[in-house]
Amino acid sequence: RQEQFRALRDVEPVTKDGHRIKLQMNAGLLVDLPQLADSGADGIGLFRTELQFMISSTMPKGEEQESFYRNVLKQAAGRPVTFRTLDIGGDKVVPYFRAQEEENPALGWRAIRLSLDRPGLLRTQLRALLKAASGAELKMMLPMVTEVSEIRAVRELMQKEIQHISKFGHQLPKKLQFGAMLEVPALLWQLDELMDEVDFVSVGSNDLFQFAMAVDRGNARVSDRFDVLGRPFLRILRDIVRAGERNKTPVTLCGEMASKPLSAMALLGIGFRSISMSPTAIGPVKAMLLGLDIGQLSEVLMAALDDDTPGVSVRDLLLRHAEEH
Ligand code: PEP
Ligand code: MG
Repeated sequence: RQEQFRALRDVEPVTKDGHRIKLQMNAGLLVDLPQLADSGADGIGLFRTELQFMISSTMPKGEEQESFYRNVLKQAAGRPVTFRTLDIGGDKVVPYFRAQEEENPALGWRAIRLSLDRPGLLRTQLRALLKAASGAELKMMLPMVTEVSEIRAVRELMQKEIQHISKFGHQLPKKLQFGAMLEVPALLWQLDELMDEVDFVSVGSNDLFQFAMAVDRGNARVSDRFDVLGRPFLRILRDIVRAGERNKTPVTLCGEMASKPLSAMALLGIGFRSISMSPTAIGPVKAMLLGLDIGQLSEVLMAALDDDTPGVSVRDLLLRHAEEH
């Protein structure tokens, strides 16, 4: 099967009814980069910058961050890379950055909250990103945004860094794309403001599911209790896609569910046209979509989401659809 998937590497990801789907991969270290060309992914939809911090015994300095990002961009050889700013805290532990013990780390001082409280740390990272992408395109996004005002606050710091860099005669990126991850349910009631503020939105379905269903993603006892393919979560995702269409804001998704052909199929049926997944999933997901008629699936899926007939799970319905087609 591996051979079969490899043969698909250079095949355009177009569905049977003609939709070109953007398939990107998730990464976080330089060793991941060769998989970009090997898998035939369109780019890196999620680059987890905290991994450099997690494998280091001391805080990486600004220059180290910059040269790392530069290397990533160089090895990506023109394919787009979406850098996510530091997402530490919660399940992502950085040994030399020990904050106080927290009773609920997932809901605690983490990600963009921590970055905004440590503006020196965030500014160092923003500067490193801006310099590494000088003359090129820089795509970046913020993790765990809860209120749109947090994005504005980062933008202000970004503006300061841009001024600083140009004052010292460095070349800026020729284009900057600024996005937010949608992982906190509170953002679902700020979708229009959010989309007004950013160039794109990327759904972090691992965290969004955790917070929407109130199940700890790392607790095996409850993590499989509810289904990402159940009606509640798929309805949430459908609302996000609709908001994207209404606001003409590109929406993508980079959680684990994009890596499984069945749930990736559901995402396409709901209206996603761009997803980012683990590199080994690109082949299987592409194989799935080459045989998919989105129009046909979408009709069945939308009806199932509106109709809550007891006893008929959406997962079973999707499985049946996949088998029949
Ligand atoms: C997510 O939450 O879905 C996500 C992609 O980010 P991470 O898994 O790194 O928290
Ligand atoms: Mg997350």
